[in-house]
Amino acid sequence: MLEARTLSGLREACAALRAGGRGLGLVPTMGALHAGHAALIAAARDAGVAAAASIFVNPLQFAPDEDLARYPRDEAADLHRLAQAGCDLAWLPDAATMYPPGSATYVEVAGPALRWEGERRPGHFRGVASVVARLFGQVRPDLACFGEKDWQQLQVVRRMVQDLHLPVRIIGVPTLREPDGLALSSRNRFLSPAERRTAPLLSAVLAEAAAALARGEPVDPMLDLAGARLGAAGFAVEYLALVDGTGLEPAATPEPGARLIAAARLGPVRLIDNVGVCAKEEGQGLRPLDPRWGRAPDPFT
Ligand code: AMP
Repeated sequence: MLEARTLSGLREACAALRAGGRGLGLVPTMGALHAGHAALIAAARDAGVAAAASIFVNPLQFAPDEDLARYPRDEAADLHRLAQAGCDLAWLPDAATMYPPGSATYVEVAGPALRWEGERRPGHFRGVASVVARLFGQVRPDLACFGEKDWQQLQVVRRMVQDLHLPVRIIGVPTLREPDGLALSSRNRFLSPAERRTAPLLSAVLAEAAAALARGEPVDPMLDLAGARLGAAGFAVEYLALVDGTGLEPAATPEPGARLIAAARLGPVRLIDNVGVCAKEEGQGLRPLDPRWGRAPDPFT
């Protein structure tokens, strides 16, 4: 695996990878890597391109009340994991490379960024869009992979790419989960053993609600019931909503592409998750989508 820490090193590495005529895929990350990130690298390689992963803890996407200093960092372990996952290039810019003095251009996405995470984490999506735009300019990838785990982020990036005519294909990768359904996340390590036992209820409740909605049960009572179950188990629910899958507007009915999204705190840890609700196939009406439970083999072990 190649490593680059400077823009000139990056240019050289990208040229070397492209020399064989292969395209280049980018997987943006903030480190603290787990098997979910490896699935993104696998998706890039499956698309037939060399895979580059960036590790950059982006200060711009932390809201004022969020602790940048507490974000887990272990570069040696991350590099080992990237190499094991089959990554071809690790791009490790520092803050001065990403935001040099005089840097003055930021990307503000409205539409899908306005509600939910955007409302609760002021500046978050401006930070995400601004760093992803810079990464695309630096690496100039043919495609980039983002996790469905962060559904709203995926739609924000798609919107930005479409609006700015950026020449990059965005691939959304299904959420990788623990066997009990908990979505893999760098934050899971902060759960106490008791919280860790409770945490899978979030995905279970979402999956059950999605199945009920696909059966035609009414939306609002179903959302109320799901929220009450989580509350009773000790979650502080921030939002639990049925939305259209691209614009993230609240949806009154589970139309094709609809998504159930949720954010809830469990002790000190804020968890987010989402599931697809239904897909309309000709002649079949609504049917539950495979929420892709289960875990792919962990390439790190
Ligand atoms: P992060 O480093 O947490 O900012 O995440 C980097 C990328 O990994 C984002 O595109 C996330 O959506 C994706 N990701 C995080 N967790 C998972 C997961 N459990 N399954 C799939 N992708 C994930």
